[in-house]
Amino acid sequence: MLRIKSILENKQPGESLEICGWVRTRRDSKHGFSFIELNDGSCMKNLQIVVDNDVPGYEESIKLVTTGASVKITGTVKESPGKGQRIELQATHLEVLGISDPESFPLQKKKHSFEYLREIAHLRPRSNTFGAIARVRNAASAAIHNFFQENGFLNIQTPIITTSDCEGAGEMFHVTTLDLARLAQAKTEIDYSQDFFGKPASLTVSGQLEAEIFATSLGPCYTFGPTFRAENSNTTRHLAEFWMVEPEVPFADLDDNMRLAEDFIKYVISHVLKSCQEDMEFFNLRIDKTVLETLHHILDHEFKRVSYTDAIEILTSAKKKWEYPVEWGHDLQSEHERYLTEEHFKKPIILHDYPRSIKPFYMRCNEDGKTVRAMDVLVPRIGEIIGGSQREERLDTLEGRMKECNLDPQEYWWYTDLRKYGTVPHSGFGLGFERLIQLLTGMQNIRDCIPFPRTPKNAEF
Ligand code: ATP
Ligand code: MN
Repeated sequence: MLRIKSILENKQPGESLEICGWVRTRRDSKHGFSFIELNDGSCMKNLQIVVDNDVPGYEESIKLVTTGASVKITGTVKESPGKGQRIELQATHLEVLGISDPESFPLQKKKHSFEYLREIAHLRPRSNTFGAIARVRNAASAAIHNFFQENGFLNIQTPIITTSDCEGAGEMFHVTTLDLARLAQAKTEIDYSQDFFGKPASLTVSGQLEAEIFATSLGPCYTFGPTFRAENSNTTRHLAEFWMVEPEVPFADLDDNMRLAEDFIKYVISHVLKSCQEDMEFFNLRIDKTVLETLHHILDHEFKRVSYTDAIEILTSAKKKWEYPVEWGHDLQSEHERYLTEEHFKKPIILHDYPRSIKPFYMRCNEDGKTVRAMDVLVPRIGEIIGGSQREERLDTLEGRMKECNLDPQEYWWYTDLRKYGTVPHSGFGLGFERLIQLLTGMQNIRDCIPFPRTPKNAEF
């Protein structure tokens, strides 16, 4: 099927063709013809179509050509005398496939707020902004697979339903077939042996632990799948359902991990800049005037490596009033992360060696007894985009840490087995795909970076 993108790029005056799409606008001239701006989602630009009144059925059909209607048009390519386009289509045949009542069509030509567009998430992909986001998402997703495939990583699929809590954070959605209404009435202890899996189960927060199994069997691998967090954070950077990219590499330490993260982000950015030029220019013009500059700046600079301890130093000596106090041993808040990357270093930074008390059990313990080999990649405008670590490969230390975190090593018997049989140093990270889309597009709110956002009290569509 012919698409408008390829017509605009390749077709020459004189060629005949047939095209289908959705009407963006129609203008009628006093001189007995109409202009249709047609879009089919293949690119941002519309195809301009000229319909003379001698086209069969003009009188009846043209009235139905309203914003949002779908049409099929046959015509001949002509050089366009108008500004802004190389060619246009002179229609010889016009068929309205589906009408769109102009009174009730929710997506009018005028600019709508993103909040309103979220309420019509079934129609927002027809707007310029959300068409562009969908295309950038697609290009970024392809680039992610290409990057790992070119570097010999194995793509693996890890389970969505799990009975282990990877982060130990407890922010998980339960999966159950138990009758909640009956349980509420019974007021007794829940007997999970009666549940579908015979024990408590949830939606996964990360595929990391399972990815480690494959990395320590088959070499570098990665997952790219949905993850779920029941955190009640109504921020512009959190979703309850989001997509995560998680590479895991054996025989790799934290330095290797940082290099991988930096190469990976740069690869995806440069691919998207190349393959989505038109959409990227749109974002730069309409969404965030600095987005192209920011992305090129990221490509041109080495990510700064900074230890958590040094970062605390910088933050405490900064002449700033913090909403949340800065203190060694506390997690950094978004305001701190953004200060470091946006104002202090003015480029992406990789913070490493965090206090072990604020990080999960699987991160490798340092000799100082206080820190673990964790790393977070922070980028301007977003803050944390990647979280990762070198994993604890020593059995005793790992079991010790599990107990410290109130986890039963027995429950993770298969995970500790990896340390019993041929253990190796290994590292990996998780990148939040929608935060990457925020970075790429300049969109303020993560809810606009996924087709159908799930957030507290919101799972429409
Ligand atoms: P944050 O501190 O920003 O809440 P986190 O430290 O809980 O993130 P990790 O567990 O390190 O996140 O997850 C790895 C990556 O997944 C993060 O760096 C981020 O890009 C992304 N991510 C985490 N939570 C969310 C969320 N609720 N919505 C969207 N992306 C998320
Ligand atoms: Mn993190």
